[in-house]
Amino acid sequence: MTTRKPIIAGNWKMNLNHFEANLLVQKLAASLNPGQLEAVETVVLPPFTDLRTVQTAVDGDKLAIAYGAQDISQHAGGAYTGEIAGSMLAKLGCTYVVIGHSERREYHDESDELVNAKIKAAFTAGLTPIFCCGEGLDIREAGNQVSHVVAQVDAGLDGLKEDQIKQIVIAYEPVWAIGTGKTATPDDAQEVCGAIRARLTEKFGAEVAEAVRIQYGGSVKAANIASIMAQPDVDGALVGGASLDAEEFASIVRFPE
Ligand code: PEP
Repeated sequence: MTTRKPIIAGNWKMNLNHFEANLLVQKLAASLNPGQLEAVETVVLPPFTDLRTVQTAVDGDKLAIAYGAQDISQHAGGAYTGEIAGSMLAKLGCTYVVIGHSERREYHDESDELVNAKIKAAFTAGLTPIFCCGEGLDIREAGNQVSHVVAQVDAGLDGLKEDQIKQIVIAYEPVWAIGTGKTATPDDAQEVCGAIRARLTEKFGAEVAEAVRIQYGGSVKAANIASIMAQPDVDGALVGGASLDAEEFASIVRFPE
């Protein structure tokens, strides 16, 4: 029986302008009662351009919804055109930031080393990283998913302090299941999430490993969330497509009912 609080995060990706973002947050808040928001930590991850709007909606109505960004610069500030520093996100009230999403690894060539640098930048700014890892289809078909993901986790967490490890959220997202409608089976999710926790135990001890929240991501929807969350090492979900529909996302957050 875990004491880890479940965390459901919606990654909006490059969707919704700030008017639409406001509407989605308002609808989401109207669909969830305080007890449901207390039971499950609920996070939205809008594009950078919507963060101020989401902050206004959340602060204005004192909503128990956390929010964060989908990426961060590894640099603290300066001449890095187009980049966004962690301190800027923190100033907007962000508490989370997604780092190492497979779309950034694939389309922006983000390496494990860069992901590690971004995780450190997030902690420096007082943000909690949602650190993504996961294998492609070729690696899964070769049966190497566990060793691949464990190596990503080792690289991503390199040089972090124990209290930072305890705080981080790790999102296991098999790349072949993202946006494809193909969900890993609950057993597939447990196999890798369990291996991540075993690795954390080996490196940092049981107390640290037991504190870390591990999410599954990949075509999560209301219809499959309960079976995924029933797995002992899955503490939440990172949700893409289904987080753009307030009712569907609210149903995912209500999974314990
Ligand atoms: C994601 O982008 O992190 C994701 C899991 O997407 P989807 O839920 O659409 O598969």
